[in-house]
Amino acid sequence: MRLASEYNCVAPRIKGFIPLSMLDWPGQICSVIFLGGCNFRCPACHNHKLVVNPDSLPDFSMSEILSYLDGRKGWIDGVTITGGEPTVNPGLEALLEQIVNPLGLRTKIDTNGSNPALIKRLIDQNLISAVSMDIKAPLDFESYSRVCGVLSDIDKILHSIDIIKASGIDFFFRTTVVPGLVAERELAEIKNTIGHDTPYMIQPFRNIDTLDPHLKGFPEYEMERFESMKARYGTGLFS
Ligand code: SF4
Repeated sequence: MRLASEYNCVAPRIKGFIPLSMLDWPGQICSVIFLGGCNFRCPACHNHKLVVNPDSLPDFSMSEILSYLDGRKGWIDGVTITGGEPTVNPGLEALLEQIVNPLGLRTKIDTNGSNPALIKRLIDQNLISAVSMDIKAPLDFESYSRVCGVLSDIDKILHSIDIIKASGIDFFFRTTVVPGLVAERELAEIKNTIGHDTPYMIQPFRNIDTLDPHLKGFPEYEMERFESMKARYGTGLFS
């Protein structure tokens, strides 16, 4: 298993764009920009082309996307930047500056929490209005490394959680419940760490097109079982 830093990205690349989404920012209509590259290798990841081989995907033009956003400002509430992992992309700050300052749009990032220094800088510079952070597993080295597929730096993950909770911007944390990798009792451990009133959601594992081929077709939780976990452990969205 490698260190997360060995997977850092070298070039800013936009690898996907959804003009309108009602699913990626709860309660908001947003556009979604996908950046290539990620420093984790979660076995259950569904965006593995974007993670493992972003160069195989075509680049989207940043100026064309900015021009589209400029023309749709009145129709969307904001822009979600996702990935991959946006914070490994050296073009993230420049992209956010172009969206926030000239266009005046709100932004949200989806992150795995591995880069607390950058998350803090984006918050301090008012470049993001909201953040959703994955918490992959209980906050110990062994569990986290198992679920994110690299040797984890738990201190960085914990630091990101603290920064986000103290930020004053909208946020929520989320965990994908992967059978065989994340046990139901571990959701209770995660909640004990982040705090029981902290906005938290769980999402179901889907066994299609996973990074680790061994998880393809792996049994998913039945909907009834998942809904009962959601009622028990989810707290609701946004601070
Ligand atoms: S699930 Fe997220 S953090 Fe994990 S490999 Fe995929 S993009 Fe990276």
